Order: sequence, then C-alpha cells, then structure tokens
Amino acid sequence: MTHRKKLPLYAKILIGMALGIALGLLGVSLHFEQFIHHWIAPWGTIFLHLLKLIAVPLVLVSLIIGVINLKDIRNLSRIGLKTILIYVCTTVLAVSVGLGMVSVVKPGLLFPKDKQTEFMQRYEETVAQKEEAMQQVQDESPLQFLVDIVPENAFNAFGDNSKMLQIIFFALLFGVAVVCVGTTKAGSVVRFFNQLNLVLLKMIDFIMAFAPIGVFALMADLMVSYSGDIGIFSALGMYALTVTAALAVIIFMVYPLILKLFTKKTWKQFIHAAFPVQMLAFSTSSSAATLPLTMERTQKHLGVSEEVSSFVLPVGVTINMDGTSCYQAVAAVFLAQVLGLDLTFGQMLLILATATISSIGTPGIPGGSIVMLMIVLDSVGIPIEGLALILGIDRPLDMLRTVVNVTGDMTVASVVDE
Ligand code: ASP
Repeated sequence: MTHRKKLPLYAKILIGMALGIALGLLGVSLHFEQFIHHWIAPWGTIFLHLLKLIAVPLVLVSLIIGVINLKDIRNLSRIGLKTILIYVCTTVLAVSVGLGMVSVVKPGLLFPKDKQTEFMQRYEETVAQKEEAMQQVQDESPLQFLVDIVPENAFNAFGDNSKMLQIIFFALLFGVAVVCVGTTKAGSVVRFFNQLNLVLLKMIDFIMAFAPIGVFALMADLMVSYSGDIGIFSALGMYALTVTAALAVIIFMVYPLILKLFTKKTWKQFIHAAFPVQMLAFSTSSSAATLPLTMERTQKHLGVSEEVSSFVLPVGVTINMDGTSCYQAVAAVFLAQVLGLDLTFGQMLLILATATISSIGTPGIPGGSIVMLMIVLDSVGIPIEGLALILGIDRPLDMLRTVVNVTGDMTVASVVDE
C-alpha cells in the first residue's frame, strides 16, 4: 500500500487504462458486456461528473483571482490579445499540417468502394441528426457568437458547463471591477476568492485520487461499446493513420519547436507536466472535462503563473483546438478524395479558413467537432452525407485529437507566460 502511494499520478492512470482495456477485451470475448455496462461503466460516469462538477467554480474563481493579480487592466488586454493571436496561429499551423499530410498520403484513393454503400446505410440516421444541428448553427447571425458570450443571467451561466465563455465573461467583468474598486477597499472579496481557490485545488486533489479508477472504468466501457466496429478499422486504416501521423507531427515537432523558440522550458519538463493531462484527455475525449487537471499541472508542474494559466487555459478549452482543426482538414480532404472530387487550391484555402473558425466553435466534449465538420464540408461543396463514412472510427481519433487540443493549450500557456 505504501509502495502504491509513491507511484506518480501518470503511472496510476496508465495502469488504470491498461487494466480497463484488458477487462473490456475480456468482457467482449467472454460475453460479460452487460456486467461492464451495469457495474463498471457508472464509475467512469461518476468520475466525469466529478471533473465537470469542479470545472465551473474553478474557472470562475481562478480567473477572478488571475485578473485581480494582474493589478493593471492594461496587462489584461495585453495578455488577452497575445493569447488569442497565438491561438489562431497554432490553429492555422495545425490545419496546414493536416492539409499537407492528407494531400501527400491521399488515403481517400485507397478506400474500398464496396464499403461506401454499407457505411452510408449504417450511419444514415446519425448523419440526419447532425445535419439538423448544422442547419441551426448556419441559420444564426454571424454575430451570434458575441451575443452568446454575454449571459443574461449569471446563475444560468454557472449552471451550464457548456457556457464556459459566459463564465469567463462574468469573471473578467467581476475581476476588472474589483481592480477598479481597489484591492484595499475590496480586501475581503480578494481574500475570500483566494481562500476559496485553495479549497477548490484541494478538491481537485481528491478528484484526481479517483482518476485511475475512473479511467479504468471509462476504458473498459469504451472497449465493450466499440467492439462491434472493428471491421471499420481495416477499411479506414489509412485514413486513421493519416490523422494520427498529422497529430503526431503537431505534438512531436510543432509544439517542441514552439517551446524551444519562445520559452525556456525543455520538452522533457513539458511532457513531465503534460503527460497525466494527455492521458486524461485520451480517456475522456473531452478537453473541457480535463480542464481542472490541465490547470493544476500547468501551474504546479509547468510553473506557469496563475494570472496567465487561469486566463489562457479556460479560453483555450473553448477556442483553441489544434487537434480538432487538423482532423477536420484531413477528414474533409479524405472525403473529397473518396467521392472523387478534385479540390482546387482556392477550396483548400477555404478549408483552412473554415476548419480554423469551426474548431473555435467546437465544444470540448466527445465528438464535439462532428457538427462543425459538416460546416467545413458544406463550405467547399463536399456532400455532408459523406460523414457516414468516417463516423464509425471517430471515437479513437477523437481521443487522439483531444490529447493534441490540451497539449496545445498548455504550450500556448507556456509561451504567453514568457
Ligand atoms: N473531443 C474534442 C475535445 O474535447 C472535441 C472534438 O474534436 O470533437 O477537445
């Protein structure tokens, strides 16, 4: 028991993952899937609930403290502008990597034609649902995103995890007001939030102690739920490999280069801090659920100041999705290749622009980018029904792109901190 306590978090999470996969595979081969659904899966759901439970108070409180600590409002606009600029740059870079990779490998040309009809029929219903959601997004005013950022009721915003930008807006407004009133006059407010922050960080420690079990349950359930889709893997192998290779280039080449050029942190230091976050992103497929751990590791283990991380990371979870944008580019061009559509250079540029914008609007939840991917497809005239071809393999790729999403946020936090 004492020995187990000494194991670092990432090792425990890894063991949890491995055991979960093993149990899931065993469940499939020995047919005790129901047992896993009924008795194991709920622990994964409880873990996800715990992560989501802490996300809103954590973002709210740490962002308020972050703004108060900046002491000068000019610092806020400087950090804000820099953050958004770097986020857009990394996203454009990620899409370019995706576009380059898919244009060279051309996985769409290898897709077996006989599978096309099969997949189309199989995912017809899901595609129709997503199409409806896309229509709603497309009917909105282009300024709708600004309207959505300003909550009409603070408590409604706090009551909905998907309203992260509204919470950020409230926290910024509140923090700025405290700074304007003066930290002496509003001294007890400052103390209150500082102390609340300590309590929340302790709560995260408790939740993380549960992470290995949560991850174990999530992986076991995932194996059971997706075991029927194994055949899809072989047909879409080249596509999956292309996405994986593009994501690997971003993680192992682009981010280390950015860190080397713009920060004093070594790749080793960075990975040491980021690894547990990446594991959690992988097993939850949700950068929003991973946020509490991302914030903790970025502050405590990467040494990024609280002022910076408490602003950059929650914003990043909502608008910076390098893995997602890269994936959307690969998926769009892959589908064009499968359907025999030749994309012009202009259309490629359009994909670059729409994938960048739509990744900003993607929520950090499992499969969050599917609806947004439809918008990318629609913009260049690729039939959105094509989505049926890639839905079956979406989950494992979602896990990988979420890893890139959170790593990107941590990289940018390090850069802004410098
Ligand atoms: N699952 C991703 C995330 O949470 C979003 C997506 O690409 O679907 O970051």
